[in-house]
Amino acid sequence: MKLLGLFLLLIACARADEARLRVSSFSTVLTEIVREVGGEKVDVTGHVKPGVDPHEFSPRPADLEAVASSELILVSSRHIEGYVEKLREAAGGKSVLLEIGAQLPGAAEDPHWWHTIGNITRATRIVRDELIRQRPALREQFSANAADYTERLEKLEKWVKAKVAELPRDRRKLVTNHDSFGGFAKEFGFEVYPIAGITKNDQPGGRKVAEIIGVIRAQGVKAIFSEDTENPKVIAQITRETGVKIGGSLLADGLGAKPNDTIEAMFRHNVTTIVEALK
Ligand SMILES: [Zn+2]
Repeated sequence: MKLLGLFLLLIACARADEARLRVSSFSTVLTEIVREVGGEKVDVTGHVKPGVDPHEFSPRPADLEAVASSELILVSSRHIEGYVEKLREAAGGKSVLLEIGAQLPGAAEDPHWWHTIGNITRATRIVRDELIRQRPALREQFSANAADYTERLEKLEKWVKAKVAELPRDRRKLVTNHDSFGGFAKEFGFEVYPIAGITKNDQPGGRKVAEIIGVIRAQGVKAIFSEDTENPKVIAQITRETGVKIGGSLLADGLGAKPNDTIEAMFRHNVTTIVEALK
């Protein structure tokens, strides 16, 4: 009897193994999260690659084909993926499309939700629950993977807090190229002065630039930040007129190219860049 039970268990495992859950992800951050939680039980296609500007990305026919055969589609939120309806159409109602950002607090004001560990952890939970819903037999494995990952995130958060604490409160002024650090600012007591809007199409007018220059002078801001995927022309004008230095480029829109292609590396890069430049 015992042997039979073991045999059935082995068959069940083999079946679960066969059916690796097919996932299409349109966010570099979510690609990492679902790979961490799903481990070897998921087959993830990361359509937006680290270092690619998600504001510029648009799915090609090959992407839509992959979506059509996926069981789960992950997008960060409507604000960034203007093509969500296209994905929905390609999925044809057969798969689940999760707009993770829409389920997180604060994403309505700033869709760049991945700049707090709290939100990364929340997103991990949402992804874990969906994987379990689709593969209930793998509940324990997904839960254990999510718990391991969350533990690593907690350690990272401790590091982030300690690093930010090196910066006096009155130095926490963040002048960035586009409005993408709202969530980060709120969590760590920064004031943000975005030069452009939430998307790159909101380019600043002369009045906006003059206003930013005024803020930099009045507050004695030491450095401003460019973003690696953005047009630095306005930044150059501001540095010329105020003498402020460029503190470096921040990874605003998700994971960067190697070696900044993990969530941990993104945080370490952004937080170190900000704190060292404003100290
Ligand atoms: Zn952005």
